[in-house]
Amino acid sequence: MATELRGIGIGREAAVGEVYRWQRAEGVTEHRKASGSAGHEKDALTAALAAGVTEVRAQAGQSDADTAAILEALVMIFEDDELVSMASPHLDEGWDAATALYRALDDLSEMMGDDEDFQSRVDDLRGIARTIGARLRGLTVSHEMPSGQDWVVVADDLTPLDTSQFGDSVVGVVTEYGGPTSHTAIICRSRGIPAVVGAKGALELTDGSKLLVDPVGDRVLVDADMDQATRPIEFVPHHDEPLVTVRANIGSLADAKAAAETAARGVGLFRTEVMYLEHSDRPGRKEQAAQFEEVFRAAPAGKIIVRTIDAGSDKPVPFMPNGEEENPALGVRGFRLGLAHPDFQHDQLGAIADAINATGRDVGVMAPMVSTVDEARQFAQMARDVGLSSVGIMIETPAIVPMIPALKGVVDFVSVGTNDLSQYLFAADRMHPAMGALVDPWQPGLLRTLAQVTAGAEEAGVDVGVCGESAADPVFSVVLAGLGVGSVSVAAGAVESVRDALRTVTMEQARAIAVEALGGSSASETKKNATEAVSRAVSA
Ligand code: PEP
Ligand code: MG
Repeated sequence: MATELRGIGIGREAAVGEVYRWQRAEGVTEHRKASGSAGHEKDALTAALAAGVTEVRAQAGQSDADTAAILEALVMIFEDDELVSMASPHLDEGWDAATALYRALDDLSEMMGDDEDFQSRVDDLRGIARTIGARLRGLTVSHEMPSGQDWVVVADDLTPLDTSQFGDSVVGVVTEYGGPTSHTAIICRSRGIPAVVGAKGALELTDGSKLLVDPVGDRVLVDADMDQATRPIEFVPHHDEPLVTVRANIGSLADAKAAAETAARGVGLFRTEVMYLEHSDRPGRKEQAAQFEEVFRAAPAGKIIVRTIDAGSDKPVPFMPNGEEENPALGVRGFRLGLAHPDFQHDQLGAIADAINATGRDVGVMAPMVSTVDEARQFAQMARDVGLSSVGIMIETPAIVPMIPALKGVVDFVSVGTNDLSQYLFAADRMHPAMGALVDPWQPGLLRTLAQVTAGAEEAGVDVGVCGESAADPVFSVVLAGLGVGSVSVAAGAVESVRDALRTVTMEQARAIAVEALGGSSASETKKNATEAVSRAVSA
């Protein structure tokens, strides 16, 4: 067995612990025919769903705010009678209750097409379904980790229900699959658990072996000690203010409150679609305005950039039905959806304008997934028509990048969504477990595209920010500043480390670091060049 596994590191601190293999009980997932009648299986399913909901809620109650919010959103689907209705035809075909539940989720998955965000939600639902399935079959999948010991959880990948069961004894996580934007990566980042995701060979690790999780080195070492860990660059800030504005990414009122506890200067991305996932009827302007008002009041001081709904025909926003699509990731999504539902788009923009009037906050609005100057113009017109004065678009499609100079006079700012820009640039699904290396923000193809974005923005005279996950890496944020980005926006948990980095280097150093990074011809080379250049700058 290899003594070193390479993957994508999450976090800045290393950890040592014993391997705890997160196993799934055998026989939980196999599809079985029922021994009893369909009616009997239906009753069993209904009872198991109710018990599962209670259990997940109890788990949510003991979890951090991020996990609790995710679990609460998931549990609502298990409470919905619709799920039992979807399982019914499978029960009638003679499948047992657990199988009917799995098949209902397969149907749901198919209905949602291959949109990565919603597929990852379905994966999370499957995680909960496995626990319910185990209960139905009398199997146990409890993870009682002995306390008084430091554990490194090793798994194929993890669901929110899995991570919510982690106690203090979990000091690290290693997964075989997943990339920098996978659920495991997001939760470990927010809970401060060192992780290496997409580490090929992880499933061959054996219980009881000692592991060093070395996220800064993007590796896992077997039988190694802390002194072998790659040390993160230590930033000793010299300036009070960072080189570029650091804002926070939020998706809810709770996020806005958490962001206000940090030194973030305003919000660089408010993902509004999260607000609508629970609505089965289209919310009116007044209802939306009240929600925006609450979030605006709670958000940290500074400008707030609100992104209009970023859903698609493949996403189950119940009040925006769209036809079946062969390829939903390339279909009616983002701003295209806004154009398909102009009344909703108008209400949403109007509600934002109302909340600005009520709160006096400085707010910009931007549209997601814009690929032509005409779309940008249409969006700007819609926004200005309701009285909004600061208008922008996200840069997430390769097609808009060379057109940024033509946005002069059309929009006031652009904000780069590196998560989607990578996905579309590399034709690599950002949630696909095997695509982690291609959607790595250190890919030189992305870095050079970002250089084109900042040059275009300068020519157009528009502000440019970055709000994708990439900006949460302090070294990457220095490269972004050096490339000419004027602001970055990151999850609340990353604000401090990104600010520290941007309060340590000078603009002249950042520009030189960006040039070094751009000289690399592979992701590992650009990262190495930038990391070495930052280390030199910090110790100069
Ligand atoms: C992005 O694509 O980088 C982005 C910030 O948007 P989201 O992650 O919500 O798609
Ligand atoms: Mg996006």
